[in-house]
Amino acid sequence: MNYKQILTNIHREVSALKNTGEVASYIPELAKVDKDHFGIYLNNIHGDNFEAGDADVTFSIQSISKVFSLAMAFANQGNKLWERVDVEPSGNPFNYLSLLEREKGIPRNPLINSGAIVVADCLVSTLKNPKEDFLQFVRDLANDQSINFDKNVVASEKKTGFRNYAIANLLKSFDNLHNSVEDVLDFYFHQCAIAMNCKQLSNAFFAFANRGKCMQNNTPIKPNQAKRINAIMLTCGFYDEAGEFAFEVGLPGKSGVGGGIVALLPNEYVITTWSPALNEKGNSYYGMQALERFTTETNSSIF
Ligand code: GLN
Repeated sequence: MNYKQILTNIHREVSALKNTGEVASYIPELAKVDKDHFGIYLNNIHGDNFEAGDADVTFSIQSISKVFSLAMAFANQGNKLWERVDVEPSGNPFNYLSLLEREKGIPRNPLINSGAIVVADCLVSTLKNPKEDFLQFVRDLANDQSINFDKNVVASEKKTGFRNYAIANLLKSFDNLHNSVEDVLDFYFHQCAIAMNCKQLSNAFFAFANRGKCMQNNTPIKPNQAKRINAIMLTCGFYDEAGEFAFEVGLPGKSGVGGGIVALLPNEYVITTWSPALNEKGNSYYGMQALERFTTETNSSIF
């Protein structure tokens, strides 16, 4: 398969489309990002890699971080995690509140905000230095010690994260938040504000495509946990567009409001796209277009 040629062509074709998406502005710092960035990076489990466009420009990973926090909490506490968060698609926006009230403080899944805030609470309870330990986990997964938090994004989201404060308080009222709202959201805003590029994200997700074994050849995630996390990505990774992503692209994956999307074919490859303009569901418009073309042209999907 000539991945280099395929990525170059897709990058050119998609760049020629009118970019109808909008850059996220509810976190003011994200609104400053240039809408025209567009990068693609693919690595396969044989160790080859290919790229097109802005694959080495860093951006805010936002909700893509929910996969890392889920992996760390699942590795630490195993199936006990599922007593506090479910694994069903929500069919609702990522910051939706009323489902949580109806379902008595048990979030639908760990990849919407309420679920990720419960996972963050678990990590704040169990890690010695929660933010530092989590950052180290991500650095080790990516095999790149230069990865860091973007403090401007943290500050920006702290000022405007009213819905996340509401979610955390609602969780607290149902006794599904054990630490203080401030401590848990401080951790959550930091995890979302990690800055990475397409290459670093693809490298970090290698473990999920490789049965839990990361690029350094150790196994931070058990094979059966990688399988379950991939299942959650497939059913819940794109909020109320998870069905559409499975239909159009056919891979497990995760998006973030910074405009990144990571998708993977187990035992084959990881592909990451970044284009900051989002469709109305909060997923990257160019990213969705590129990934649909990629799995169609390479005739590769889990189906
Ligand atoms: N930090 C963002 C928020 O909590 C993450 C949302 C996202 O990427 N979908 O609103």
